[in-house]
Amino acid sequence: MEHYLDNAATTKTCKEAVDSALFVMENLYGNPSSTHTKGREAKKHLESCRKIISDALGSKSNELYFTSCGTESDNWAIVNGAEAMRRYGNHIISSTVEHDAVRKSLDLLESRGYKVTRLKPDEKGEVSPEKVIDCLTDNTIMVSLMMVNNETGAINDIKTISQLVKNVNHRCLIHTDAVQGFLKVNFKACDIGADLISISGHKIHAVKGIGALYIKNGLNIKPFICGGSQENGLRAGTEALPQIAAFSAACSLNPEIEKIYSLKKYAISELTSNIPELKYLDTPAPHILSISMPGWKSEVLMNLLESREIYVSKSSACKQGRRSHVLEEIGLPTNVIDGALRIGFSRYNSKEDIDSLVRALIEAKKLRHN
Ligand code: PLP
Repeated sequence: MEHYLDNAATTKTCKEAVDSALFVMENLYGNPSSTHTKGREAKKHLESCRKIISDALGSKSNELYFTSCGTESDNWAIVNGAEAMRRYGNHIISSTVEHDAVRKSLDLLESRGYKVTRLKPDEKGEVSPEKVIDCLTDNTIMVSLMMVNNETGAINDIKTISQLVKNVNHRCLIHTDAVQGFLKVNFKACDIGADLISISGHKIHAVKGIGALYIKNGLNIKPFICGGSQENGLRAGTEALPQIAAFSAACSLNPEIEKIYSLKKYAISELTSNIPELKYLDTPAPHILSISMPGWKSEVLMNLLESREIYVSKSSACKQGRRSHVLEEIGLPTNVIDGALRIGFSRYNSKEDIDSLVRALIEAKKLRHN
């Protein structure tokens, strides 16, 4: 039996999302920009999906722009957000533990003459609001900090950071990469003071290839992809209605955060009581657990788990073999980083998945000692 515990990398598409996408492909295949009946019915469906997703995000419908993925949302927010503010300054504050989608956008801005301060998080993996304020200058045009770290499950207090930053420099844009936060932690876009928020469908049981960017009303940022007048002229390209329908169906599910969090707590308790040398990061995200078996290599453990149909990852799925910069930045010793595994929980997991994981790790230990 399969035990899929890599839900921070991506989630299984839920039946509701599959059905919605299929319905659109078979029935609502008109181009939402066409003026005939098939186009108008597709457009109507598009807008009803936008309303469902923006309700889930706590934004107005006209603040939600569809993109192809979380990466595109991050690129657009950071690169064009900074360019929109260029006349006010060239300084950006971020952290050393962001996802590559943010890191590479910042690298690009640096190559164009922007100055980037990358703050180191504390040992819990969080960036303190005070540290952000200490670096803020009149020249700072953007603060970009992730809501939930994809490797550790650490959570940044975006609301407090936004409030403090805006008190000192009201013009400074706040961007948060909420790809791992959306429908995993409780927040409302209209409430946290962010100007730009990135989200992605495949982390919440929709399909791959759909994301969105929240752009607060009144903010004037240029299109990242130009062409037709879709998405209010800000994101060209015929709308991916099947994916959007799947995204909206996934947003309509009860996120079951409590159930997911109780699975994480159960995993911590079972793992630590059965494998006393196991280390873990005690972080608040309900769905991400970073563990380590010091002295082991993550790849060896992953292969062993895979042979029992247990799927986890080493760190971020995008890292592909490189050592995790996130775990390095929070100061973990090398032997802990080298034996790290990331467990990602979802609504479709059960205690049995965790029991199988624990059994397999105990067996691994026995095999090594024999
Ligand atoms: N930001 C974070 C924190 C992520 O975890 C990911 C994906 O792993 C992304 C951005 C990129 O999202 P996508 O895969 O939709 O491009």
